[in-house]
Amino acid sequence: MSLNNEHEKLEPEQELKNVGLKATAPRMRILEIFQKAQESGNVRHLSAEDIYKQLVAENIEIGLATVYRVLTQFETAGLIIRHYFGNDRATYEVDDGAHHDHIVCTRCGRVEEFVDKEIERRQKQIAVRLGFELEGHSLSLYGVCEDCRKKERERKA
Ligand SMILES: [Zn+2]
Ligand SMILES: [Zn+2]
Repeated sequence: MSLNNEHEKLEPEQELKNVGLKATAPRMRILEIFQKAQESGNVRHLSAEDIYKQLVAENIEIGLATVYRVLTQFETAGLIIRHYFGNDRATYEVDDGAHHDHIVCTRCGRVEEFVDKEIERRQKQIAVRLGFELEGHSLSLYGVCEDCRKKERERKA
């Protein structure tokens, strides 16, 4: 289902209906958190724990197991994509249909997104050379971000 590839923003209730999920309160609130994160731009990538903490802070009674279950349903429905950034803790973001790759700070967990035409092109060439029909890829770079490097320099000085 690719209804969410259209860039118009839908109300959570409608969005859930479109993918055949009943608009329960936890589902609507969790989807809203993702939509807000998407709009804010800088914290688009959320773990189940991030979502859980936010719901608890809003005095919403929900178990972590329910959060995991909703995230799995959202992923199956194509609303969100799951990533593993170098550890076994899954991170999720809204699937807006636009492809991008990631660079992740191994100190603070900050995630930046990028698209590089040359990298995309080369990956397709490699697939063709190896006789594959490419369906997708996931590319994550790991390093230490500017802020964390600055902190480390200050600590040493
Ligand atoms: Zn960092
Ligand atoms: Zn991303």
